[in-house]
Amino acid sequence: MKITVAKGDGIGPEVMGAVLDIFKKAQVPLEYEQVPMGKEVVLAGNRTGIGESARHSVESTGILFKGPMETPKGGGYKSVNVTARKIWGTFANKRVYRSFHGVPTPTGVHGLNLTMVRENIEDTYGAIEHMQTHDVAQCRRFITRPGSEQVHRYTFEMAVRKGARRVTCAHKANIMKMTDGLFLEAFYDVAKDYPQIEADDVIVDALAMRLVLDPSEFEVVVLPNLQGDIVTDLAAGLVGGLAYAPSANIGDGICIFEAVHGTAPDIVGQDRANPTALLLSGTMMLRHLGLVAHASVIENALERTLRAMHRRPDLGQPIPPFRTSVFTEKMLDALDGIHVALGQLPRLEVRRRTEPKMRVTPDPKSTVLRGVDVFFESALSPKAVEAQLAELGSRLKLTMISNRGTQVTPVGSAYTDCVNHYRARFESEGLVSQQEIVLQLGAVGERFRLCGAEWLREIDGAQGYSLAQGQG
Ligand code: NAD
Repeated sequence: MKITVAKGDGIGPEVMGAVLDIFKKAQVPLEYEQVPMGKEVVLAGNRTGIGESARHSVESTGILFKGPMETPKGGGYKSVNVTARKIWGTFANKRVYRSFHGVPTPTGVHGLNLTMVRENIEDTYGAIEHMQTHDVAQCRRFITRPGSEQVHRYTFEMAVRKGARRVTCAHKANIMKMTDGLFLEAFYDVAKDYPQIEADDVIVDALAMRLVLDPSEFEVVVLPNLQGDIVTDLAAGLVGGLAYAPSANIGDGICIFEAVHGTAPDIVGQDRANPTALLLSGTMMLRHLGLVAHASVIENALERTLRAMHRRPDLGQPIPPFRTSVFTEKMLDALDGIHVALGQLPRLEVRRRTEPKMRVTPDPKSTVLRGVDVFFESALSPKAVEAQLAELGSRLKLTMISNRGTQVTPVGSAYTDCVNHYRARFESEGLVSQQEIVLQLGAVGERFRLCGAEWLREIDGAQGYSLAQGQG
């Protein structure tokens, strides 16, 4: 069975080299197609960091085992890691947190076995960002029903397979009522198909605190992308740090296995990189491929190795610093003489695709337009803006103006500081046509520099837009 391997940047080649040596010693029956990906591809002129050979290889093997890849902060090229997850549709990022004997943890947690699933494609990771004015940047956050249902269904199926009794959805639906509200609604819709599993939810900030106080309270947690990114690193801290946090990116066709950590530029080439996270990502991959015996043998050897590496040589002496070479040597020793019965080799069926799948849920019974939110630039005061908009004289009624999401007219506070970016809400009691909205935009555009617009819809009788802060 062939898989695609990309060693990655920074400590990537060091940890991948160690893991492939360990796989060889454990007689893992895989062939590796090594492809260039990451910084070297970017430097060669391809800003995606994923060349044709990598695309072709991953789309034919269906499995990418990858090392970490560098992303510049602020400007520069986009994250190769995120691009890979998105173009290959890996909608669920599964992260397993296990504490190991001997590995020190800040809260002294032991016996932890927590699984988190982070939605992997949507949310702010669409990276759809625009400067609205010279003072105001905007990031669009998309949460979709098909995307949410996909990650929730994967989570429940995985929970059934692992014999979990409870799945918890973390969110911020108290503030983001439309986006996280949809994520949560989809969670409880999918949960109905799994009555044997208890389904509950938690607000993400409370989850962060409760994880630190008692992580054993949770079994399986599913989260939106950005919140998942942050909280899963917190969970990594609970089991000893990023060096112990593996992950699997699960898609409908292609899966990517990688450590949670990055390229660790501060320790490159110093024999200090810990390959555990990549090794555990590798054993997740072996289980996914049906090579369960090989995964178990490696994980048993890992437990013995970590215990031995964290033992003090003599009473009173410090634990020796972690060395990649010592770790690899001890792992190879621990696997010495072990024979793994091969049995019948499982076959990986790659679901071939010729074009993207459309994921659309059945149409609602009714969708009607009620108005429009118009965003525009102005450094005038709220009252002056209101006076100008009042002169437009249209069928749509100006019901509210907000600044940074806080209502400033008709009711506002002198303590609400404003920036040069307003939203005016125009609504109608009756139905509104798209043409009327376009005319309204044109009218506002004659007075102010337009920045954007959002249609106000009612879907199946439910208001599909939120109120501004301070709007009753
Ligand atoms: P990082 O994970 O690379 O490093 C954070 C800290 O953890 C550093 O002190 C590092 O030495 C340590 N560390 C990480 N992995 C370790 C390991 N296996 N063994 C021992 N120590 C380890 O995070 P960062 O410094 O924020 O990011 C560096 C680069 O990696 C950035 O370009 C970032 O974009 C990229 N990154 C890539 C991925 C990925 O490929 N999936 C994930 C995160 C960050």
